[in-house]
Amino acid sequence: MIQNLFQLTRQQAVGLGNWVNRRLWLEMVLAASIASALMAVVSGLLVLSQSARQLRHNAEDLQRQLSVGLTSYEPLHNLQRRLQQASSGLEVEMALVLDQRGFVLAASDNALVGQPLAKVLQRPEQAHLRELFAECPSFSSLLSCLTREEVVFQGPVPWIGGEVLMTMRQYPLVLEGLGRFGDRGTLITITDVRPQRLEVLLFILQMFAAGLLPLLAGCLGLMVLLRRELIPELLKLAQIDALSGIYNRRAFHETAAQILAQAEQRQLPVTLALIDVDHFKRINDTFGHDAGDAVIRAVAELLRSAVRSVDLVGRIGGDEFAVLAQLPGATATAILDRARVRIQATGIRMLGAVESDAALDSSAPVVEVNLSIGVACSSGSAGYGLAELISAADAALYVAKDRGRAQVVNLEEEQRGSRPSRSGATPLGEWQVGGI
Ligand code: GH3
Ligand code: MG
Repeated sequence: MIQNLFQLTRQQAVGLGNWVNRRLWLEMVLAASIASALMAVVSGLLVLSQSARQLRHNAEDLQRQLSVGLTSYEPLHNLQRRLQQASSGLEVEMALVLDQRGFVLAASDNALVGQPLAKVLQRPEQAHLRELFAECPSFSSLLSCLTREEVVFQGPVPWIGGEVLMTMRQYPLVLEGLGRFGDRGTLITITDVRPQRLEVLLFILQMFAAGLLPLLAGCLGLMVLLRRELIPELLKLAQIDALSGIYNRRAFHETAAQILAQAEQRQLPVTLALIDVDHFKRINDTFGHDAGDAVIRAVAELLRSAVRSVDLVGRIGGDEFAVLAQLPGATATAILDRARVRIQATGIRMLGAVESDAALDSSAPVVEVNLSIGVACSSGSAGYGLAELISAADAALYVAKDRGRAQVVNLEEEQRGSRPSRSGATPLGEWQVGGI
């Protein structure tokens, strides 16, 4: 039972450490990545929409520049040259002018000039142009589609900018030889937008990386704070008994086991004492539960002040306390006996539950506090085993109660004859040994 408790607390402490190391770290990295990705996507979408607006604007500009050749009285070959010059730039993939009959008047690609639109659309490399006229399958519908005005992105993912931006605009024709071609022309431009789209995607990546670093740094700071400040504080709180302010049962066992292991290595004496308030139930019944609480706090304080800071003091039950002192049995016994006599002599003055106020009020009732104490030392038969020491001290406490309470009993010492046995004393071994 005691060993299980000890293992449980150790496992919990180790588990908490591991949780901080692995799970918390992973979750923090994940949260930082998601936050940074969201930030990058939102800002990327904003930049994308801005860049799409800019691309449309550029395409309109291109249309206007090229349309100068259509609306001024100049030979057709001049228009042809303008279109070729435009497509020699990196961005314009193709530019062509069609007349009202659906024939290509001029195009950046020489091979298309003079071809009817229906034939141009059949060429394998004209996939984008085919998409522009996808809704116009027949010849007559092709001609009516030629009268549309459009600015559209096309490609596998058009919502992030597509691959190309296609514009189709109608212009009055003022070309040389106007009579043959009709008085209206359609200017189609196809602009490659992949470089801009790549730029935006790179920007999103940069935003992600730039956002991730400060977020990770923040998370790291938070984790350091958790590890250094919060978790030790939580562990400390989990070890302390809220009423008495000393170690609780589990923390006492855990720490006692560590102290015993170290003492065994160095072969130093360690003494365990179990302290129980005599007739505590009667104190509760007579003075009230708050008075009982005050007695518990007073006994805890008494024990803490009686031993050194290296010694361990814990509350292991309702009115039961334990002290593990790194002292020989006789010394620890003497110290605890002095403390016992002190509280027996003074008692605790009560006024409600607030002893400090009560101390100022001489009319407040005084609660008599007697302690029974059982002591066992590592130099006895219990050795350095925690469970064995507890059993031996418990047996001594039982003897103290049996002998009339308000006393310290160290059975091993009595057995060795170093201290006179009180009447009715029973040697260690005859008592039922029980754990706490
Ligand atoms: P003995 O002399 O044999 O030790 O008798 P006792 O009355 O001290 O022992 P017992 O174990 O019968 O009673 C302990 C009482 O302590 C029972 C319980 O109501 C009371 N108690 C347990 N925890 C607390 C607490 O936190 N505050 C108060 N006021 N009483 C408590
Ligand atoms: Mg008691």
